[in-house]
Amino acid sequence: MASNEIKNFGIIGWPLGHTLSPKMYLAAFKTAGFPNYNYSTFPVQKGRLLLVVDGIKGLDLRGVNVTIPHKTAIMRHLDAVDADARIIGAVNTVVNDGGMLTGYNTDVTGFLASLAEANFMPEDCNAVILGAGGAARAILWGLCKRKAGYITIGARNAEKAQKLAEEFSQYGNIGGHDWNAEEFKEVLQTADILINTTPLGMYPNVDEMPPVSLELLPEGALVYDVIYNPAKTKFLEKAEELGFPTLNGMTMLLLQGKESFRLFTGEIPDIDIMRRVLKQELKVK
Ligand code: NAP
Repeated sequence: MASNEIKNFGIIGWPLGHTLSPKMYLAAFKTAGFPNYNYSTFPVQKGRLLLVVDGIKGLDLRGVNVTIPHKTAIMRHLDAVDADARIIGAVNTVVNDGGMLTGYNTDVTGFLASLAEANFMPEDCNAVILGAGGAARAILWGLCKRKAGYITIGARNAEKAQKLAEEFSQYGNIGGHDWNAEEFKEVLQTADILINTTPLGMYPNVDEMPPVSLELLPEGALVYDVIYNPAKTKFLEKAEELGFPTLNGMTMLLLQGKESFRLFTGEIPDIDIMRRVLKQELKVK
């Protein structure tokens, strides 16, 4: 419901650099009839997290988004953490209900909604994830929730990939490999979806890409890169050249923002406005 009330929101992280969140949320707040909702950037270094959590309460911020390097560290300072965020081990959204701080992970919602938008049904699929960091954990949990048939994690650090696979093995059929190993190449040949969750190819290192042979993928496999800047990474460019359908990280970013907006305000935002802002900022047509 529209309101002239003042409420404050923001994003904490380090380094924050140029974040797309303020423009995206402010446009959505305005359109939803909240002209006095503010959204600020708070660059916060590692050692100051406890002060910041007190600050959220002290300043009565209604909600914050959380990004690198605080997504995991903030959890122990919150009053409650929702089930998805607890399993993933990371919070990207905090809601303040009168001094009670609850953490959520909307990356998983955003990821699954992005698959739905691309008409990709994850149930029973063979999924391959590149990388074993924070984004990989959210995506892995999303695929487990939707009962993917088999999930393979490929990373430069085989031990990390195997450890992550083991940790989530209670939720699905998961394997972890060195992405240069022969058995990983075999897995690629039956993949329905290949998802890059590493920062390889992200601005300004736009000439990089994960060292996997896209040629090995079966026809029609969806090639997904969670990077959104640039909109078309070298990884996606190569996949397109080979005729594969592709998806970049902008839809996931947009749809995790949609879910955070819902948690912040209790309302569904105008997604077209948010998409338009992101496209403008990312210079996408
Ligand atoms: P993270 O926790 O640091 O994990 C990064 C992963 O990539 C790790 O497995 C890391 O391997 C691997 N990696 C990093 N540099 C590498 C390199 N040079 N060669 C090979 N592997 C490398 O980061 P994150 O939070 O998962 O974020 C990863 C990417 O996802 C970023 O580009 C971020 O912007 C994007 N992202 C997008 C969305 C979205 O909504 N679209 C949401 C979240 C994240 P090691 O463990 O061996 O270091």
